[in-house]
Amino acid sequence: MMIGRPASLRRYNKRAIVRALMRSAPASRADLAKQVGMSQVTAGKIVDELLAEGIVEEIDQPAPTGAGKLGRPGRMLRLSTSRAPFLAIQLGTSNTRLARAPIGSYSEDQWTVTFQTPDSASAWKRQLKEACRGVMSDEVVAALVSVPGVVDERAGRVLLAPNLRWLDSVNLIELVGEVIGRRTTLLQEIRALAYGQLAVDPPDGERLSDFLLVDFGDGLGAAAAVGGKVYVGPLALNGELGHTPVVGNRRRCGCGSVGCVETLVNRAGLLESFAAEVGRKDVTFADLAEHIDRYGVRRWLADALEHVATAIAAAANVMGIDRVIITGSLNELPASVMEHLSQAVINGCLWRRFGKMICHGAPRYRLAGLVAAGIDRIVMPVESWEV
Ligand SMILES: [Zn+2]
Repeated sequence: MMIGRPASLRRYNKRAIVRALMRSAPASRADLAKQVGMSQVTAGKIVDELLAEGIVEEIDQPAPTGAGKLGRPGRMLRLSTSRAPFLAIQLGTSNTRLARAPIGSYSEDQWTVTFQTPDSASAWKRQLKEACRGVMSDEVVAALVSVPGVVDERAGRVLLAPNLRWLDSVNLIELVGEVIGRRTTLLQEIRALAYGQLAVDPPDGERLSDFLLVDFGDGLGAAAAVGGKVYVGPLALNGELGHTPVVGNRRRCGCGSVGCVETLVNRAGLLESFAAEVGRKDVTFADLAEHIDRYGVRRWLADALEHVATAIAAAANVMGIDRVIITGSLNELPASVMEHLSQAVINGCLWRRFGKMICHGAPRYRLAGLVAAGIDRIVMPVESWEV
């Protein structure tokens, strides 16, 4: 129930229109009014304001019609793609990537500049400044930064980045702000992926609103979406599935503990086990893929997948979620790996006895996720900061 001051009511209505366009563009003014439950007059006024602000743009396209009806050409609306007001930065363990992004772009990641992430804050700042030369312009209003580890997004600090140690001693918002000279917002990297899954157009037309996303890469992390929103816990810590211990695992983890499941299934962990299996040191991820192609999922790999499946199934059981989305490096391996993991996850989920439990691979939509968060926090902020 919105009983607010007119200004906050208008902001709320604007946000509702923008959200509707994120989900189903292009749309006509009439479609939008219907979708958000406003009168056509009210929706029309808001659309005019959004057009004037350059957040929305008009395109000529036949209006979608029901079966058998003739399409009538009309002015359709979508979020603006002609300007790119965001500078998206992915600060990754191995690489840092940059791209300019418009408000209305929701597709697979496409980064324009990449550099190797150095091992100190000062070197990173220097390289970021260099990389910005090719991508910055006056159009940019904000920097959206995806960061690994345990992130206090509100304070702009990284509390713990096991795979990138210098991060926990800097205020990243200030550091990026000094280079870019624009407003900067941080998003934990796995949460960015969950925002992305919510924002992109699903290939099968089924819009996802509830899922647990698990990302495999240099680390292992998770983020959940509930009711179409990325879940936010009371602590600056969530989705840390990778640091669940596995009984009998003696590997040392970057977080300081011993036995975390991440050490078995992240890139380094998989390569360590594979190297031991074949008795070679210099193995690559491509070698591992080829080995699996030839010999299938061997016992060591099956064990690792089953350990991580136990942690994933436990999270899904606790949250009451029937869909698990797997992104990242496991998708680079033969399909048999994902099949093995999916089956093990489903076997561990109680919901399979009452309904359909789904676990599948998907691309990473980090850039789309950063843009979606940028719209929420910078273009259309509401009074509650976290959404
Ligand atoms: Zn750990």
